[in-house]
Parts: sequence; structure tokens; C-alpha cells
Amino acid sequence: MDFFRLEPTARSSWRLAVLMGANTRTYKFALGAALLDAAAEGRSEILLRDLAVPYAMGLVRHLGQAPQVSSNAKTGESDFLSVAGREATESLELGHPTEELLAATLQSMPRMVMKKFHNLRSEGVEVPHRFYEVTGSSRERVVRLSEHLRDIARSEQSASLRGELSARWSIVETSFAAGIGRSLVLEGVAVDMATLRITDRQRRRSVAGVTDAVIGFQHGLCLICGVPITPGVDDIAVDHVFPYSFMSRLLGPGDRGTTPDLDAVWNLAPTHAPCNRQKSDRPPTPAEMTRLARRNEAIMQSPHPLRRTLELTLRHNGHTGTRPGEWFTFIQRVHGLP
Ligand SMILES: [Zn+2]
Repeated sequence: MDFFRLEPTARSSWRLAVLMGANTRTYKFALGAALLDAAAEGRSEILLRDLAVPYAMGLVRHLGQAPQVSSNAKTGESDFLSVAGREATESLELGHPTEELLAATLQSMPRMVMKKFHNLRSEGVEVPHRFYEVTGSSRERVVRLSEHLRDIARSEQSASLRGELSARWSIVETSFAAGIGRSLVLEGVAVDMATLRITDRQRRRSVAGVTDAVIGFQHGLCLICGVPITPGVDDIAVDHVFPYSFMSRLLGPGDRGTTPDLDAVWNLAPTHAPCNRQKSDRPPTPAEMTRLARRNEAIMQSPHPLRRTLELTLRHNGHTGTRPGEWFTFIQRVHGLP
């Protein structure tokens, strides 16, 4: 996959697993968050029962906000999420999982999410790096955390990885919600330019920040200078890669309907704030256009609803929305418009 080839690191493997897998449940995000925290402490192993605590608590906190399973999936009484639902209130009051929830978590984790975390969408294909191994006996399972995991959890981009994971979690669970989910899956997302948040088109309910939602697909790098952006340290701006001035120069107001929407995900990219100020109103350079096309091609590998959003942009502008590489031609065409 091009995304991995451009930066063949453990961090890219992590992003493949977290951002680009198919999801019918949100277990992967709860596990990812718990793994990053454990590895950030520099640990090389952790008892499964200790990892299970933040994992289960992450899920019960999210259960209160949105469904954690696709409405197409079947969940029975004994399903882990049914147990979590029953035990959520008490666990949240306690500040840790109830005994019943912990027991269900210890049963479910090694059989489900820990088996699947490294899988790519196609059956039997795994991401190129491994982040943990489950060892120990069935009485006491131990999770060995790999050096790759410790490296990324303590790297300069770890804050970015956390933000990406939580934005992805939020987008996926929102797409599971009745009503809003359906509109997200069919119509994709909109962007509220005032708050720079991704919203659903119908109710304009905030889902995630634009930066957190897309920065992982550009490898955490500024689209203008290509250097990593560190959340919490760097001032971040969301750049209109093709600025308004670019479109309005030659087109009258009546032509607006025929030009692509510049306030949409395809044209918005996180940058360092100083890079963005310096760029001002100039059109994008060839390097920036290539980065944007690559970023958008990567989003196309990620399941609904971000992919849907980009698919619709392509289709409204005369492309199929399904062929790889269309972003390169589309962006070249936009550049030739005025
Ligand atoms: Zn920059």
C-alpha cells in the first residue's frame, strides 16, 4: 500500500491498524488507547487483567455516548457489549470494572480484539509490525508489548496518534448511531468552518476535529513543509490547499456551482500555523498538490464515512470515485481551472 511505502515505519503500521481497518465494533480503539498508555510508561509487559481495566472502562465511558456496535451486527445477551451495557453504571460509579465486567473482558479480549488488532481489511493480511503478543497460561495471561509499540508511544507524534485514535473512534461510533449514522454513511461528513469540526450533514452535530480526523492520513506531517506537527506544542492551522482567491479570480459568482467546494474535507489540511500564514493566498505548489492527493488516496482506504465524503466529491466532479489514483487527476484538473 502506498501509505506504508511512503513511510515504512511502525507508526504507519499503527495507523493502518487504527485508521484503515473495517469496524463493526469499536473494540480496536479501546485496545489501542490502553496499549498506548501502558507502553508510554515504558513497560515491556503487562498482565492481561491490568490491561483489561482501562480497556473496559474506555468502552463503558463510550457506551454512554453512542453505540459501540454497528446496527447490522447481532448481539446476544451474553455478548460482551451486552454485559458492558448492564455493568456500565456501576463500573463508572466504582471507577473500575465490576467483577462481572472484568471477567467478561478477560474472556472476550484474547478471543476477539487481540486476535484481530493487526489485521488489515483483507482476510489473512496483517500490518507489517506487531505491537504485542499474548503469552502466559490460561490462568494468568501476560501481554508482551513490543519495542515498536514502546517507540511509537513515546515518540514525538504520540499525542497526534492519541488524537487520531479518538477522532476515529468518534467517527465510527457516530456512524453506528441510528439516524445520524445513516446520513453519514450515505452523504459523508460536512465541515463547520467556524469551529473546524467535522459534522453530520443533517443535524450539524459535531463529530470530531478536522485536524484529528485527517492528520494521520498525512502521516502527522504539515502539508506545506512536510515536517511533523506536534499537537500541544505547535500552533496548528487548517489550510485551504486551494484558497478562495484561486477560484474567484476568474470565475464569476454564477459559476460557483460548477467548481468544487473548497470548504470540504478534500481541500482542508492541517499545517503549522506559521507555514499557513506565510502561504497566504497563493495556489498550492506541485509538492503540496502531490501530498494532498496522497493524503486523499489514503483516506479512500479508510472505511466510511470519511471515504464516502471524498467519493462524493470525486463523483460530483466527473470521476467514478472508486478508481485508485483519481485524486491525482482531480487535483491537477482543479489546478488548471482558473
Ligand atoms: Zn509546516
